[in-house]
Amino acid sequence: MARSTRPKKLKAFNPATGEQVGEVQANSPAEVSEAVALARKVAPEWGAIPPAGRARILKDVRHRIYNNMDDIVETVATECGKPRAEALVHDVMPAVMALQYFERVAPKALRPDHPGRIIGPLLGVSSKVEWRPFGVVGCISPWNYPFQLAIFAIAPALFAGNTVVLKPSEVTPGVGERLRAVLEGLPPGVASIVQGGADVGQALVDAPCDKVCFIGSPATGRKIAGAAAKHLTPVVMELGGQDAAIVCEDADVDVASSGVLWGAFLNSGQTCAAIERAYVVDGVADEFIERLSSKLAKLHHEEDGDIGALTTSAGLDTVTRLVEDSVRNGATVVAGGPGEVKKGAASGGRWYPPTILEGRSEEMALFKEEIFGPVLPIVRVRDEAEAVRRANEDGFSLTASVWTGSRARFDRLAGELRAGTISSNDHASTAGAVWTPWGGVGESGYGRINGVYGLREFSVPVHVARSLMPKMKKVWWYPYDAATTETLRAVSDAIAAPTVREKARAVRVMIGSFGRAVKNKL
Ligand code: NAD
Repeated sequence: MARSTRPKKLKAFNPATGEQVGEVQANSPAEVSEAVALARKVAPEWGAIPPAGRARILKDVRHRIYNNMDDIVETVATECGKPRAEALVHDVMPAVMALQYFERVAPKALRPDHPGRIIGPLLGVSSKVEWRPFGVVGCISPWNYPFQLAIFAIAPALFAGNTVVLKPSEVTPGVGERLRAVLEGLPPGVASIVQGGADVGQALVDAPCDKVCFIGSPATGRKIAGAAAKHLTPVVMELGGQDAAIVCEDADVDVASSGVLWGAFLNSGQTCAAIERAYVVDGVADEFIERLSSKLAKLHHEEDGDIGALTTSAGLDTVTRLVEDSVRNGATVVAGGPGEVKKGAASGGRWYPPTILEGRSEEMALFKEEIFGPVLPIVRVRDEAEAVRRANEDGFSLTASVWTGSRARFDRLAGELRAGTISSNDHASTAGAVWTPWGGVGESGYGRINGVYGLREFSVPVHVARSLMPKMKKVWWYPYDAATTETLRAVSDAIAAPTVREKARAVRVMIGSFGRAVKNKL
Protein backbone atom coordinates (compact mmCIF):
# COMPACT_ATOMS: atom_id res chain seq x y z
CA MET A 1 0.00 0.00 0.00
CA ALA A 2 1.41 3.40 -1.00
CA ARG A 3 2.11 5.63 1.98
CA SER A 4 1.24 9.31 1.86
CA THR A 5 4.43 11.39 1.62
CA ARG A 6 2.63 14.66 2.28
CA PRO A 7 4.35 16.18 5.34
CA LYS A 8 2.16 16.81 8.34
CA LYS A 9 1.27 20.06 10.02
CA LEU A 10 3.05 20.93 13.27
CA LYS A 11 0.66 22.19 15.92
CA ALA A 12 1.83 24.64 18.58
CA PHE A 13 0.14 24.73 21.99
CA ASN A 14 0.39 27.12 24.90
CA PRO A 15 1.45 24.75 27.72
CA ALA A 16 0.11 27.17 30.32
CA THR A 17 -3.47 26.83 29.07
CA GLY A 18 -3.48 23.84 26.74
CA GLU A 19 -4.82 26.06 23.91
CA GLN A 20 -3.62 25.57 20.35
CA VAL A 21 -1.80 28.75 19.29
CA GLY A 22 -0.60 27.98 15.80
CA GLU A 23 0.04 25.55 13.00
CA VAL A 24 3.04 25.30 10.69
CA GLN A 25 3.58 23.13 7.63
CA ALA A 26 6.36 20.58 8.15
CA ASN A 27 8.93 19.84 5.46
CA SER A 28 9.35 16.51 3.74
CA PRO A 29 12.67 14.60 3.74
CA ALA A 30 12.91 15.45 0.00
CA GLU A 31 12.73 19.16 0.85
CA VAL A 32 15.52 18.65 3.39
CA SER A 33 17.72 17.22 0.60
CA GLU A 34 16.89 20.24 -1.57
CA ALA A 35 17.82 22.64 1.25
CA VAL A 36 21.15 20.85 1.80
CA ALA A 37 21.84 20.82 -1.95
CA LEU A 38 21.27 24.58 -2.18
CA ALA A 39 23.43 25.15 0.93
CA ARG A 40 26.17 23.07 -0.70
CA LYS A 41 25.91 25.01 -3.95
CA VAL A 42 26.39 28.41 -2.29
CA ALA A 43 28.92 27.22 0.35
CA PRO A 44 32.08 27.97 -1.71
CA GLU A 45 30.94 31.53 -2.40
CA TRP A 46 29.98 32.20 1.24
CA GLY A 47 33.19 30.57 2.52
CA ALA A 48 35.29 32.71 0.15
CA ILE A 49 34.03 35.98 1.69
CA PRO A 50 36.65 37.15 4.22
CA PRO A 51 35.47 36.86 7.85
CA ALA A 52 35.08 40.63 8.22
CA GLY A 53 32.83 40.74 5.14
CA ARG A 54 30.69 37.88 6.45
CA ALA A 55 30.44 39.64 9.80
CA ARG A 56 29.12 42.77 8.04
CA ILE A 57 26.46 40.72 6.22
CA LEU A 58 25.47 38.81 9.38
CA LYS A 59 24.79 42.08 11.25
CA ASP A 60 21.45 42.07 9.45
CA VAL A 61 20.33 39.08 11.56
CA ARG A 62 20.92 41.00 14.80
CA HIS A 63 19.11 44.05 13.44
CA ARG A 64 16.12 41.97 12.35
CA ILE A 65 15.92 40.50 15.86
CA TYR A 66 15.91 44.08 17.22
CA ASN A 67 13.06 45.02 14.88
CA ASN A 68 10.99 41.96 15.87
CA MET A 69 11.98 41.61 19.51
CA ASP A 70 8.46 41.82 21.02
CA ASP A 71 7.03 39.32 18.57
CA ILE A 72 9.87 36.84 19.19
CA VAL A 73 9.54 37.17 22.99
CA GLU A 74 5.77 36.66 22.77
CA THR A 75 6.10 33.56 20.58
CA VAL A 76 8.77 31.99 22.81
CA ALA A 77 6.74 32.70 25.96
CA THR A 78 3.51 31.37 24.46
CA GLU A 79 4.87 28.19 22.86
CA CYS A 80 7.07 27.27 25.86
CA GLY A 81 4.71 28.38 28.63
CA LYS A 82 7.48 30.44 30.21
CA PRO A 83 7.31 33.94 31.71
CA ARG A 84 7.94 36.76 29.21
CA ALA A 85 10.86 37.91 31.36
CA GLU A 86 12.53 34.53 30.86
CA ALA A 87 11.80 34.55 27.12
CA LEU A 88 13.52 37.92 26.88
CA VAL A 89 16.44 37.43 29.25
CA HIS A 90 17.25 33.80 28.55
CA ASP A 91 16.26 33.40 24.93
CA VAL A 92 16.57 36.62 23.00
CA MET A 93 19.28 38.41 24.98
CA PRO A 94 21.95 35.65 24.79
CA ALA A 95 21.21 35.27 21.07
CA VAL A 96 21.94 38.92 20.30
CA MET A 97 24.96 38.84 22.62
CA ALA A 98 26.39 35.86 20.70
CA LEU A 99 25.80 37.53 17.33
CA GLN A 100 27.44 40.77 18.39
CA TYR A 101 30.36 38.93 19.99
CA PHE A 102 31.08 36.96 16.81
CA GLU A 103 30.80 40.10 14.64
CA ARG A 104 33.66 41.63 16.64
CA VAL A 105 35.76 38.55 17.33
CA ALA A 106 35.43 36.28 14.27
CA PRO A 107 37.61 38.36 11.90
CA LYS A 108 40.49 38.20 14.38
CA ALA A 109 39.95 34.64 15.66
CA LEU A 110 39.86 33.21 12.13
CA ARG A 111 43.16 34.75 11.07
CA PRO A 112 45.68 32.07 10.13
CA ASP A 113 48.05 30.78 12.82
CA HIS A 114 51.79 30.35 12.20
CA PRO A 115 52.97 27.55 14.50
CA GLY A 116 56.56 26.33 14.71
CA ARG A 117 58.24 29.63 13.88
CA ILE A 118 61.64 28.27 15.05
CA ILE A 119 61.53 24.51 14.48
CA GLY A 120 59.83 24.88 11.06
CA PRO A 121 62.57 27.00 9.40
CA LEU A 122 65.22 24.66 10.85
CA LEU A 123 63.56 21.89 8.84
CA GLY A 124 63.16 24.20 5.84
CA VAL A 125 59.41 24.82 6.09
CA SER A 126 57.15 27.76 6.92
CA SER A 127 53.74 26.68 8.28
CA LYS A 128 50.46 28.51 8.03
CA VAL A 129 47.27 27.08 9.52
CA GLU A 130 44.12 28.37 7.85
CA TRP A 131 40.72 28.03 9.54
CA ARG A 132 38.59 26.82 6.63
CA PRO A 133 34.86 26.05 6.75
CA PHE A 134 33.58 22.47 6.60
CA GLY A 135 30.90 23.32 4.01
CA VAL A 136 27.30 22.63 5.08
CA VAL A 137 26.51 22.35 8.80
CA GLY A 138 23.22 20.70 9.78
CA CYS A 139 21.93 22.11 13.08
CA ILE A 140 19.25 20.44 15.21
CA SER A 141 17.95 22.34 18.24
CA PRO A 142 15.59 21.71 21.19
CA TRP A 143 12.49 23.51 22.52
CA ASN A 144 13.60 24.63 25.99
CA TYR A 145 15.41 27.79 24.80
CA PRO A 146 14.20 27.58 21.21
CA PHE A 147 15.49 30.93 19.97
CA GLN A 148 18.78 31.17 21.88
CA LEU A 149 19.95 27.64 21.15
CA ALA A 150 19.11 27.79 17.45
CA ILE A 151 21.23 30.96 17.18
CA PHE A 152 23.98 29.44 19.38
CA ALA A 153 24.13 26.47 16.96
CA ILE A 154 24.11 28.36 13.66
CA ALA A 155 26.05 31.54 14.56
CA PRO A 156 29.57 30.11 15.03
CA ALA A 157 29.08 27.92 11.94
CA LEU A 158 27.98 30.87 9.77
CA PHE A 159 30.68 33.25 11.02
CA ALA A 160 33.28 30.53 10.34
CA GLY A 161 32.15 30.49 6.69
CA ASN A 162 29.83 27.48 6.60
CA THR A 163 26.32 27.50 5.24
CA VAL A 164 23.69 26.03 7.56
CA VAL A 165 20.42 24.15 7.45
CA LEU A 166 18.63 24.40 10.81
CA LYS A 167 15.92 22.07 12.07
CA PRO A 168 14.33 23.72 15.09
CA SER A 169 12.19 21.75 17.53
CA GLU A 170 8.76 20.61 16.35
CA VAL A 171 7.43 21.57 19.81
CA THR A 172 7.96 25.28 19.09
CA PRO A 173 7.29 25.65 15.34
CA GLY A 174 6.23 29.30 15.61
CA VAL A 175 9.68 30.14 16.98
CA GLY A 176 11.08 28.28 13.96
CA GLU A 177 9.15 30.68 11.72
CA ARG A 178 10.51 33.70 13.65
CA LEU A 179 14.02 32.30 13.09
CA ARG A 180 13.26 31.96 9.38
CA ALA A 181 12.19 35.63 9.30
CA VAL A 182 15.38 36.93 10.94
CA LEU A 183 17.57 34.88 8.54
CA GLU A 184 15.66 36.00 5.46
CA GLY A 185 18.01 38.89 4.61
CA LEU A 186 21.00 36.57 4.06
CA PRO A 187 21.92 35.41 0.54
CA PRO A 188 19.65 32.51 -0.54
CA GLY A 189 20.81 29.12 0.74
CA VAL A 190 23.27 30.49 3.31
CA ALA A 191 20.92 29.75 6.22
CA SER A 192 17.77 27.69 5.62
CA ILE A 193 15.16 26.35 8.02
CA VAL A 194 13.48 22.98 7.70
CA GLN A 195 10.57 22.27 10.02
CA GLY A 196 9.57 18.89 11.38
CA GLY A 197 10.21 16.15 13.91
CA ALA A 198 12.63 13.25 14.21
CA ASP A 199 12.13 12.15 10.56
CA VAL A 200 13.19 15.58 9.29
CA GLY A 201 16.16 15.61 11.70
CA GLN A 202 17.17 12.16 10.46
CA ALA A 203 16.93 13.31 6.84
CA LEU A 204 19.22 16.25 7.67
CA VAL A 205 21.88 14.02 9.26
CA ASP A 206 21.55 11.56 6.38
CA ALA A 207 21.66 14.22 3.63
CA PRO A 208 24.55 14.07 4.58
CA CYS A 209 25.95 17.35 5.92
CA ASP A 210 29.67 18.06 6.35
CA LYS A 211 29.22 18.62 10.08
CA VAL A 212 26.28 18.30 12.48
CA CYS A 213 25.59 20.44 15.53
CA PHE A 214 23.09 18.72 17.81
CA ILE A 215 21.59 20.25 20.94
CA GLY A 216 19.19 17.93 22.75
CA SER A 217 18.90 14.85 24.92
CA PRO A 218 21.59 12.17 25.37
CA ALA A 219 19.14 9.55 24.01
CA THR A 220 18.69 11.39 20.69
CA GLY A 221 22.40 12.24 20.69
CA ARG A 222 23.22 8.52 20.62
CA LYS A 223 20.92 7.98 17.62
CA ILE A 224 22.45 10.92 15.77
CA ALA A 225 26.00 9.76 16.53
CA GLY A 226 25.10 6.37 15.03
CA ALA A 227 23.52 7.90 11.91
CA ALA A 228 26.42 10.35 11.44
CA ALA A 229 28.97 7.54 11.80
CA LYS A 230 27.66 6.00 8.55
CA HIS A 231 28.93 9.08 6.70
CA LEU A 232 31.90 9.76 9.04
CA THR A 233 30.28 13.14 9.70
CA PRO A 234 31.77 14.92 12.72
CA VAL A 235 29.18 15.99 15.30
CA VAL A 236 29.09 18.55 18.10
CA MET A 237 26.99 17.09 20.91
CA GLU A 238 25.42 19.54 23.35
CA LEU A 239 23.44 17.19 25.58
CA GLY A 240 21.69 17.15 28.93
CA GLY A 241 22.79 17.65 32.49
CA GLN A 242 21.89 16.68 36.05
CA ASP A 243 23.91 19.52 37.47
CA ALA A 244 25.26 19.43 41.00
CA ALA A 245 25.58 22.37 43.41
CA ILE A 246 27.76 22.07 46.51
CA VAL A 247 26.91 24.33 49.45
CA CYS A 248 29.91 24.57 51.78
CA GLU A 249 29.91 25.33 55.48
CA ASP A 250 31.33 28.82 54.89
CA ALA A 251 28.74 29.76 52.22
CA ASP A 252 26.73 32.96 52.60
CA VAL A 253 23.47 31.11 53.18
CA ASP A 254 21.29 34.02 52.12
CA VAL A 255 23.10 34.33 48.77
CA ALA A 256 23.36 30.56 48.31
CA SER A 257 19.65 29.95 48.95
CA SER A 258 18.67 32.69 46.45
CA GLY A 259 21.13 31.47 43.81
CA VAL A 260 20.32 27.78 44.16
CA LEU A 261 16.59 28.62 44.03
CA TRP A 262 17.07 30.39 40.69
CA GLY A 263 19.52 27.80 39.34
CA ALA A 264 17.07 24.98 40.07
CA PHE A 265 13.74 26.53 39.07
CA LEU A 266 14.56 28.85 36.15
CA ASN A 267 12.56 27.92 33.08
CA SER A 268 10.61 25.61 35.39
CA GLY A 269 13.75 23.48 35.73
CA GLN A 270 13.76 22.75 31.98
CA THR A 271 17.34 23.89 31.56
CA CYS A 272 20.22 21.66 30.51
CA ALA A 273 22.31 23.42 33.16
CA ALA A 274 19.64 23.55 35.92
CA ILE A 275 20.64 22.40 39.40
CA GLU A 276 19.22 18.89 39.75
CA ARG A 277 21.13 17.96 42.91
CA ALA A 278 22.20 20.15 45.84
CA TYR A 279 24.74 18.65 48.27
CA VAL A 280 24.65 20.72 51.43
CA VAL A 281 27.20 20.35 54.22
CA ASP A 282 25.43 19.38 57.45
CA GLY A 283 26.47 22.44 59.45
CA VAL A 284 24.43 24.83 57.24
CA ALA A 285 21.76 22.44 55.94
CA ASP A 286 18.91 23.40 58.30
CA GLU A 287 19.29 27.11 57.72
CA PHE A 288 19.77 26.63 53.96
CA ILE A 289 16.65 24.46 53.54
CA GLU A 290 14.55 26.81 55.64
CA ARG A 291 15.59 29.92 53.70
CA LEU A 292 15.25 28.15 50.34
CA SER A 293 11.71 26.96 51.03
CA SER A 294 10.55 30.29 52.42
CA LYS A 295 11.90 32.04 49.29
CA LEU A 296 10.24 29.45 47.02
CA ALA A 297 6.92 30.14 48.77
CA LYS A 298 7.18 33.81 47.72
CA LEU A 299 7.43 33.02 44.00
CA HIS A 300 4.46 33.23 41.66
CA HIS A 301 3.76 29.92 39.99
CA GLU A 302 1.41 31.16 37.29
CA GLU A 303 1.22 32.36 33.70
CA ASP A 304 3.78 35.14 33.22
CA GLY A 305 4.80 34.90 36.89
CA ASP A 306 8.16 33.58 38.13
CA ILE A 307 7.88 29.86 37.47
CA GLY A 308 6.03 28.78 34.34
CA ALA A 309 4.41 25.62 33.03
CA LEU A 310 6.09 22.49 31.72
CA THR A 311 6.38 22.70 27.96
CA THR A 312 5.62 19.08 27.04
CA SER A 313 3.24 16.49 28.41
CA ALA A 314 6.04 13.88 28.25
CA GLY A 315 8.08 16.19 30.52
CA LEU A 316 5.16 16.47 32.96
CA ASP A 317 4.86 12.66 33.04
CA THR A 318 8.61 12.26 33.75
CA VAL A 319 8.55 14.77 36.62
CA THR A 320 5.44 13.15 38.13
CA ARG A 321 7.01 9.69 37.88
CA LEU A 322 10.38 10.73 39.34
CA VAL A 323 8.90 12.56 42.34
CA GLU A 324 6.52 9.70 43.15
CA ASP A 325 9.37 7.21 42.87
CA SER A 326 11.57 9.28 45.21
CA VAL A 327 8.86 9.61 47.83
CA ARG A 328 8.23 5.87 47.63
CA ASN A 329 11.95 5.34 48.17
CA GLY A 330 12.22 7.52 51.26
CA ALA A 331 12.53 11.18 50.16
CA THR A 332 10.93 13.80 52.41
CA VAL A 333 8.79 16.42 50.68
CA VAL A 334 9.94 19.88 51.87
CA ALA A 335 7.75 21.82 49.41
CA GLY A 336 5.29 20.99 46.63
CA GLY A 337 5.24 17.30 45.77
CA PRO A 338 2.64 14.82 44.59
CA GLY A 339 0.11 15.77 47.27
CA GLU A 340 -0.31 19.29 45.94
CA VAL A 341 -3.09 19.96 43.44
CA LYS A 342 -1.81 20.39 39.91
CA LYS A 343 -2.73 23.82 38.62
CA GLY A 344 -4.54 24.06 35.33
CA ALA A 345 -4.87 20.28 34.97
CA ALA A 346 -8.57 20.55 34.16
CA SER A 347 -7.99 22.95 31.27
CA GLY A 348 -5.08 20.96 29.81
CA GLY A 349 -2.38 23.25 31.21
CA ARG A 350 0.87 21.48 32.09
CA TRP A 351 1.80 22.62 35.58
CA TYR A 352 3.76 20.81 38.26
CA PRO A 353 4.11 22.28 41.76
CA PRO A 354 7.67 23.52 42.38
CA THR A 355 9.05 20.82 44.63
CA ILE A 356 11.93 20.47 47.10
CA LEU A 357 12.81 16.95 48.25
CA GLU A 358 15.28 15.89 50.89
CA GLY A 359 17.16 12.61 51.13
CA ARG A 360 18.87 10.17 48.84
CA SER A 361 18.85 6.43 48.36
CA GLU A 362 20.36 4.12 45.76
CA GLU A 363 16.87 3.14 44.57
CA MET A 364 15.78 6.67 43.60
CA ALA A 365 15.56 6.99 39.80
CA LEU A 366 15.88 10.76 40.15
CA PHE A 367 19.65 10.51 40.65
CA LYS A 368 20.01 8.37 37.54
CA GLU A 369 18.19 10.45 34.91
CA GLU A 370 17.56 14.06 33.98
CA ILE A 371 14.51 15.46 35.83
CA PHE A 372 14.07 18.50 33.54
CA GLY A 373 11.36 20.00 35.74
CA PRO A 374 10.75 22.17 38.83
CA VAL A 375 12.19 19.71 41.35
CA LEU A 376 15.22 20.20 43.58
CA PRO A 377 16.55 17.20 45.50
CA ILE A 378 18.68 18.17 48.50
CA VAL A 379 21.20 15.79 50.02
CA ARG A 380 22.89 16.49 53.37
CA VAL A 381 26.58 15.56 53.37
CA ARG A 382 29.18 15.27 56.14
CA ASP A 383 31.80 17.39 54.38
CA GLU A 384 32.98 18.73 51.03
CA ALA A 385 34.84 15.52 50.18
CA GLU A 386 31.57 13.58 50.33
CA ALA A 387 29.85 16.32 48.32
CA VAL A 388 32.41 16.14 45.51
CA ARG A 389 32.31 12.35 45.46
CA ARG A 390 28.51 12.30 45.20
CA ALA A 391 28.48 15.15 42.65
CA ASN A 392 30.80 13.15 40.39
CA GLU A 393 29.22 9.73 40.99
CA ASP A 394 25.45 10.29 41.36
CA GLY A 395 24.88 11.77 37.91
CA PHE A 396 26.42 13.80 35.12
CA SER A 397 26.93 17.54 35.24
CA LEU A 398 26.95 19.82 32.22
CA THR A 399 27.90 22.55 34.70
CA ALA A 400 28.48 22.50 38.47
CA SER A 401 28.69 25.12 41.20
CA VAL A 402 30.39 25.60 44.55
CA TRP A 403 28.86 27.99 47.09
CA THR A 404 31.61 29.20 49.41
CA GLY A 405 33.17 32.33 50.85
CA SER A 406 36.68 31.07 50.19
CA ARG A 407 38.45 31.48 46.88
CA ALA A 408 41.00 28.80 47.77
CA ARG A 409 38.23 26.32 48.61
CA PHE A 410 36.50 27.07 45.31
CA ASP A 411 39.73 26.59 43.35
CA ARG A 412 40.37 23.27 45.07
CA LEU A 413 36.84 21.87 44.61
CA ALA A 414 36.62 23.19 41.02
CA GLY A 415 39.71 21.12 40.23
CA GLU A 416 37.98 17.99 41.57
CA LEU A 417 34.56 18.38 39.91
CA ARG A 418 33.71 16.74 36.59
CA ALA A 419 31.72 19.19 34.42
CA GLY A 420 32.08 21.42 31.36
CA THR A 421 31.82 24.62 33.44
CA ILE A 422 32.36 25.10 37.18
CA SER A 423 31.15 28.33 38.83
CA SER A 424 31.40 29.82 42.27
CA ASN A 425 28.33 31.35 43.93
CA ASP A 426 26.24 31.25 40.74
CA HIS A 427 24.86 28.55 38.47
CA ALA A 428 23.74 28.28 34.82
CA SER A 429 24.40 31.97 34.05
CA THR A 430 27.56 31.05 32.16
CA ALA A 431 25.42 29.94 29.19
CA GLY A 432 25.14 33.70 28.58
CA ALA A 433 28.92 34.19 28.83
CA VAL A 434 29.10 33.87 25.05
CA TRP A 435 32.86 34.49 24.98
CA THR A 436 33.54 31.22 26.87
CA PRO A 437 33.35 27.61 25.63
CA TRP A 438 29.94 25.96 26.16
CA GLY A 439 29.76 22.19 26.26
CA GLY A 440 29.88 19.13 28.46
CA VAL A 441 31.91 16.11 29.43
CA GLY A 442 30.80 12.46 29.37
CA GLU A 443 27.03 12.06 29.02
CA SER A 444 26.55 15.82 28.67
CA GLY A 445 28.33 15.80 25.33
CA TYR A 446 31.44 16.84 23.46
CA GLY A 447 32.59 19.68 21.24
CA ARG A 448 32.08 23.34 22.04
CA ILE A 449 29.89 26.19 20.86
CA ASN A 450 30.41 29.85 21.87
CA GLY A 451 33.61 31.84 22.10
CA VAL A 452 36.63 31.45 19.88
CA TYR A 453 36.28 27.72 20.70
CA GLY A 454 32.93 27.64 18.86
CA LEU A 455 34.37 29.34 15.78
CA ARG A 456 37.19 26.83 15.65
CA GLU A 457 34.80 23.92 16.26
CA PHE A 458 33.17 24.75 12.92
CA SER A 459 36.49 25.24 11.10
CA VAL A 460 38.97 22.78 9.67
CA PRO A 461 42.56 23.71 10.54
CA VAL A 462 44.30 23.29 7.19
CA HIS A 463 48.10 23.27 7.25
CA VAL A 464 49.65 25.10 4.30
CA ALA A 465 53.36 24.19 4.33
CA ARG A 466 55.69 26.32 2.18
CA SER A 467 59.15 24.95 1.50
CA LEU A 468 61.86 27.50 2.38
CA MET A 469 64.49 25.68 0.30
CA PRO A 470 62.63 24.64 -2.87
CA LYS A 471 65.83 23.68 -4.69
CA MET A 472 67.12 21.36 -1.98
CA LYS A 473 66.26 17.64 -1.75
CA LYS A 474 65.16 16.50 1.70
CA VAL A 475 67.55 14.40 3.76
CA TRP A 476 64.81 11.84 4.58
CA TRP A 477 64.06 11.10 0.89
CA TYR A 478 65.45 8.04 -1.01
CA PRO A 479 67.90 6.40 -0.81
CA TYR A 480 68.24 5.32 2.82
CA ASP A 481 72.02 5.03 2.63
CA ALA A 482 74.51 4.96 5.51
CA ALA A 483 74.97 8.76 5.56
CA THR A 484 71.18 9.27 5.72
CA THR A 485 70.80 6.82 8.59
CA GLU A 486 73.74 8.40 10.44
CA THR A 487 72.29 11.92 10.03
CA LEU A 488 68.79 11.00 11.15
CA ARG A 489 70.07 8.91 14.06
CA ALA A 490 72.11 11.95 15.13
CA VAL A 491 68.99 14.15 14.93
CA SER A 492 67.04 11.66 17.07
CA ASP A 493 69.91 11.51 19.58
CA ALA A 494 70.12 15.32 19.75
CA ILE A 495 66.41 15.52 20.59
CA ALA A 496 66.29 12.60 23.02
CA ALA A 497 69.64 13.00 24.86
CA PRO A 498 69.34 13.97 28.54
CA THR A 499 72.51 16.15 28.80
CA VAL A 500 73.84 19.16 26.88
CA ARG A 501 77.11 17.31 26.29
CA GLU A 502 75.39 14.38 24.62
CA LYS A 503 73.19 16.71 22.57
CA ALA A 504 76.27 18.65 21.38
CA ARG A 505 78.02 15.42 20.39
CA ALA A 506 74.99 14.35 18.33
CA VAL A 507 74.85 17.74 16.58
CA ARG A 508 78.53 17.39 15.62
CA VAL A 509 77.82 13.94 14.07
CA MET A 510 74.83 15.37 12.24
CA ILE A 511 76.85 18.26 10.76
CA GLY A 512 79.47 15.77 9.61
CA SER A 513 77.09 13.45 7.76
CA PHE A 514 74.35 15.82 6.52
CA GLY A 515 76.21 17.06 3.39
CA ARG A 516 77.08 13.51 2.27
CA ALA A 517 73.50 12.34 2.81
CA VAL A 518 71.94 15.16 0.78
CA LYS A 519 74.49 14.84 -2.03
CA ASN A 520 73.46 11.19 -2.65
CA LYS A 521 69.72 11.90 -2.92
CA LEU A 522 68.03 10.59 -6.06
P1 NAD B 1 15.32 15.85 21.99
O1 NAD B 1 16.59 15.10 21.96
O2 NAD B 1 14.05 15.10 22.16
O3 NAD B 1 15.14 16.68 20.62
C1 NAD B 1 16.09 17.63 20.19
C2 NAD B 1 15.95 17.80 18.69
O4 NAD B 1 16.31 16.60 18.04
C3 NAD B 1 14.56 18.15 18.21
O5 NAD B 1 14.65 19.13 17.21
C4 NAD B 1 14.05 16.83 17.65
O6 NAD B 1 13.08 16.97 16.66
C5 NAD B 1 15.32 16.25 17.09
N1 NAD B 1 15.33 14.79 16.94
C6 NAD B 1 14.67 13.87 17.68
N2 NAD B 1 14.98 12.62 17.26
C7 NAD B 1 15.86 12.76 16.24
C8 NAD B 1 16.56 11.84 15.40
N3 NAD B 1 16.45 10.53 15.55
N4 NAD B 1 17.41 12.34 14.46
C9 NAD B 1 17.57 13.67 14.30
N5 NAD B 1 16.93 14.59 15.06
C10 NAD B 1 16.08 14.14 16.03
O7 NAD B 1 15.49 16.96 23.10
P2 NAD B 1 14.42 18.03 23.60
O8 NAD B 1 13.40 17.33 24.41
O9 NAD B 1 13.98 18.88 22.47
O10 NAD B 1 15.34 18.96 24.55
C11 NAD B 1 15.64 18.65 25.85
C12 NAD B 1 17.01 18.03 25.98
O11 NAD B 1 17.99 18.88 25.41
C13 NAD B 1 17.42 17.85 27.43
O12 NAD B 1 18.12 16.64 27.58
C14 NAD B 1 18.36 19.04 27.67
O13 NAD B 1 19.24 18.87 28.74
C15 NAD B 1 19.05 19.10 26.35
N6 NAD B 1 19.64 20.43 26.13
C16 NAD B 1 21.01 20.56 26.08
C17 NAD B 1 21.57 21.82 25.93
C18 NAD B 1 23.06 22.04 25.93
O14 NAD B 1 23.49 23.13 25.62
N7 NAD B 1 23.87 21.06 26.27
C19 NAD B 1 20.74 22.93 25.84
C20 NAD B 1 19.37 22.74 25.88
C21 NAD B 1 18.83 21.50 26.03
